[in-house]
Amino acid sequence: MQKIFQIGPKTFVLDQEKAEAAFAAKRVINGRATMTFNLLPLKYQWAYDLYRTMKANHWEPEDIPMGKDIEQWRDEKAVADVDRWIIRMGIGYFSAAEGIVGDNIQHVVRELVTAPELKLVLGRHAHEENIHADSLLYMIASLGINPHECEAMFEDVPTIVRKNEFVTRISKDLRRDLDLTKVENQRLLARNIFVFGQCMEGTQFYGLFGMVLSLYRQNKFPGIGQMFRYTLRDESNHIEVFRNLFMDLIEENREIWTTEFKTELTDLMKEAVALEKEFIRDCLPANAVGLRVEDFLTYIDYIADRRLEGCGLAPLSGGVKNPLPWLAEMMDIKKEQNFFEGRVTEYQKASSLTVAADDEL
Ligand code: FE
Ligand code: MN
Repeated sequence: MQKIFQIGPKTFVLDQEKAEAAFAAKRVINGRATMTFNLLPLKYQWAYDLYRTMKANHWEPEDIPMGKDIEQWRDEKAVADVDRWIIRMGIGYFSAAEGIVGDNIQHVVRELVTAPELKLVLGRHAHEENIHADSLLYMIASLGINPHECEAMFEDVPTIVRKNEFVTRISKDLRRDLDLTKVENQRLLARNIFVFGQCMEGTQFYGLFGMVLSLYRQNKFPGIGQMFRYTLRDESNHIEVFRNLFMDLIEENREIWTTEFKTELTDLMKEAVALEKEFIRDCLPANAVGLRVEDFLTYIDYIADRRLEGCGLAPLSGGVKNPLPWLAEMMDIKKEQNFFEGRVTEYQKASSLTVAADDEL
């Protein structure tokens, strides 16, 4: 069907069928090749909705006061060495990890997906990783930590090196000309999306989230804790972006989803959990400052099972109870609107105030 538009002396003919065919050709991968950013009509509504939610949660590191943190960091008696060590490990690990996630989005995932609304939400996702990286810079600068020490941690702490090698290897496998009409290559992409979203952001970030936010609950390092709360809220959306992307990729390319592939993914999660547990033991070498190592190890089993189930995979441990139930509430930032005298939350006023409901967390 053709629609004729008569605008003054000019006539335009628009072809409805052609537009519908373009919409039908929207796919996660191997969709219509186009340089244009045709968001409408939306095919992946979830992607646009998450983009809106993420945008409404915008924050900037400099909005968070660091006075109390600086005071505690410098005062020998205010906090214990273990408290400082946990913060150091947090800064050392995340300084590089945020960059690895952002890099994989920009050079692998966003490059390979074809639907514009998916590129839209992935652009926002990458930007949030930049904000997180910047927040670590802000923590380092505020506390007066030598920036070279962070680089050294990244290279010298073996449990950090191993966690990072685990994900960078998966990312490097896709940095070449990839024929995505081949099922084995589709599977490589699905594996990448699973590992980054569910194993790394979804599981391997949670040991430190638990520890840093445990200190925050004890009124230690309130500025850093607040930034970790914002980061945790962002990560919960990132996990959803990658989970939806994974599910739609599988749905559109059913040949990917074999028993062997499911086993491969489950084994990768097993590896991720083992690496995270080693890392937790480095962050918290013994029960100290009111924190029990066992709780954090169990939490990783608990969260890994949630991630597996979210992707239609069988849990590894099954029936593990959440030892840190308060952690989910840490994402609910609306309650403290006055905390920054309104500045941070101003970003939220224009649009929705919704936080992605992740009661599974
Ligand atoms: Fe992040
Ligand atoms: Mn993230």
